[in-house]
Amino acid sequence: MPKQFTTVGVGRLLKEWKEEDFAASLWTTEIPLAVAGFNYGRFKKKEVTDSETKYAIEGYATSEVPDYLRGFPGNLTPSRLTENAMVEAQNSVRLFTQYFGEAPYGRLAITQQPQFNFGQSWPTLVYLPLSAFLDSTQRWMLMGGDAFRFTEFIQEVTPHEVAHQWWGHMVGWASYHDQWLSEGFADFSAGLYLLWTESKPDKYLKYWERARKAILDKNEFGLAANDAGPLWMGLRLNTRRTGGAYNRLVYPKGGYILHMLRSMMYEAQTKDQNFVVMMHDFVKTYYNQSVSTEDFKRMVEKHITPNMNVDGNGSMDWFFDEWVYGTEVPSYAFNYSLSDDGDKTVLKFTVEQSGVSPRFKMLIPIYLEFDGKPFQMGRVFLVGNLKSKEFQTRLPKRPKRVLINAEHDILASQVSVNGK
Ligand SMILES: [Zn+2]
Repeated sequence: MPKQFTTVGVGRLLKEWKEEDFAASLWTTEIPLAVAGFNYGRFKKKEVTDSETKYAIEGYATSEVPDYLRGFPGNLTPSRLTENAMVEAQNSVRLFTQYFGEAPYGRLAITQQPQFNFGQSWPTLVYLPLSAFLDSTQRWMLMGGDAFRFTEFIQEVTPHEVAHQWWGHMVGWASYHDQWLSEGFADFSAGLYLLWTESKPDKYLKYWERARKAILDKNEFGLAANDAGPLWMGLRLNTRRTGGAYNRLVYPKGGYILHMLRSMMYEAQTKDQNFVVMMHDFVKTYYNQSVSTEDFKRMVEKHITPNMNVDGNGSMDWFFDEWVYGTEVPSYAFNYSLSDDGDKTVLKFTVEQSGVSPRFKMLIPIYLEFDGKPFQMGRVFLVGNLKSKEFQTRLPKRPKRVLINAEHDILASQVSVNGK
């Protein structure tokens, strides 16, 4: 490399030296890596070791702006936020270690690349877009109204790319059919990051609402990405009339599928434990292997919970047929009333599922809201276009309101509560 540049490779740096006008470096790895890449630039390096995971987090950013931004008014210093990006990476590694199990690499280099709108992940190495290193004022100066849209991309790009250390690198995908196990899982992981790092759930809920719209909003041909076909078709989803359907399904719908599984496995007592145990097992079982959708389905069946076992045969075919190999999207109408009975409150409710085929099955979660927080009370199981019987239950305390699908637990077209 010309000697003014620093090279950042995958694996571990063994040595660096100069030869005349060139800089050379040698990289090695003790564990197999499926792919290798590198970045280079006039980088300033920062480094921290995370006390919890013992991961070394390195940040590489340039204080120069790329040619296409030269002469722009204001003082653009894209290295200023390196520490922010490093903190996000550190928190991502911690969270994903808890949820998915330990990563073996021990190191993660967060490096800047000059384009604005994409990131990429290699084992031990992440490219983050320049935009992730600018603060909101700088982004506003550069992009005006587009800055808002970008703010969402930027808050998701670091956890998404860090999640690829697990999804794509530790666990690969068998064919284009199975790429949602990488991109969808990385999108799911970015949502999880928003849930655990933000004090309020707003960003998390908006994240899933944006995903829902990306999947279901119609384009100029009157077609939603979801109309292009099952996400299992992967890259073949992109057609002249459904351009971008790959990006709108394999990423957010893939994320939704894992999100729906997590929701079904959630229990009030043990929270995410069922899901966490399954994900750890998945990563351990398929470490350094390419997995297929059917491999993942078998893993879900291994960890099936009683309420997910709707056919009584331990099979998750019903769920995968609907969401991975199918395109159906249900709507729900929820009607409820609360009345006082002495010191208790009586809740009566019905749930109606519509817009689906007669065999479409789903577990619909019901939430009670106390002190601004929804708590899952239970789930209603429905098959086909059907209104449930009227459920009645006595509650020790009056909830502020009763909700269904409060955490976007199901990818739904429409959800109405008491007719609204
Ligand atoms: Zn990705």
